[in-house]
Amino acid sequence: MANDAQNSSGWMLQNKPGVCGLDNSGNSCYLNAVLQCLCSTMPLVEHLLNQDTRQELAKCKCRVAQVFVRLLEKMWLGSSSSCAPVEARSMLGSIYPQFDNHTQQDAQELLLHLLNALHEDLKKLHFSGQQPGERPGLSSTAESTIVSDLFEGQLSYLTHFLRCGHQAHNGQTFTVLSLPIPKGNKKCSIQDCLSLFFEETFLTGAEQSVCSACGRRREAAVQTRLDKPPEILVLHLKRFGCKGKSQVKLSANVSFSMELDVAPFLSSSARGVSSYHLYAVVQRKYDTARAQQGINQEAANGY
Ligand SMILES: [Zn+2]
Repeated sequence: MANDAQNSSGWMLQNKPGVCGLDNSGNSCYLNAVLQCLCSTMPLVEHLLNQDTRQELAKCKCRVAQVFVRLLEKMWLGSSSSCAPVEARSMLGSIYPQFDNHTQQDAQELLLHLLNALHEDLKKLHFSGQQPGERPGLSSTAESTIVSDLFEGQLSYLTHFLRCGHQAHNGQTFTVLSLPIPKGNKKCSIQDCLSLFFEETFLTGAEQSVCSACGRRREAAVQTRLDKPPEILVLHLKRFGCKGKSQVKLSANVSFSMELDVAPFLSSSARGVSSYHLYAVVQRKYDTARAQQGINQEAANGY
């Protein structure tokens, strides 16, 4: 609606819904970057700005969700071109003291804390027997919320014990995939990082694990696969590697395209679709120690 609205001087109007800058209140760029990504995650925004959700939230003690929704209201329903996420910052600082001082923090850690806090808050709505805006097509359980529905994926591990031949299956849910960066490369792609993450690993020496069939410590090969690709995939690049006992920063330039297909990494029983469309990136400008990207699966599927 506001796409082609221009003022008399020809500049685009700044108050396009959702396009809203966040004031930096001193070393808060990591926080603002994470908030911008979350506030541009459309299925999350639509769910939380739904009138029913807001009415339910107003009735319960869900401080994190209430503060986050107030920020969304300013960014999506307000008329300012920027706002200061003061309330979000002090709320996060009161729950997680490490984000209370004005120093740079890890954006990925903050994202995980914030998603977790939102998830815990939104679960309270379920317990009161009301589930606002239930999303069709998603299997919601008492423990699931819009956060877990969107961001939670499942990995499977197939451990093959080489000597006795026993095979063991394990699963693990994840919200963020922390990807290694190939060492010694100046340039690589996000696919290279994913390939390295899903590469078969061998447990030998001190890393041997106990076989549940024969009860002995055995050498094993572990195959990691994506069992359930999440609707929103968050990737984090591990910029630090080990060289002997010291930590080295891996400064390789990691390229990523707008589309990402994770089909090569799916397990044979994988459910869900595998193509993603990039919609958000957090990158540290001066210290490119950590970068992460969120990829929206829905756009790639014509949603
Ligand atoms: Zn065995």
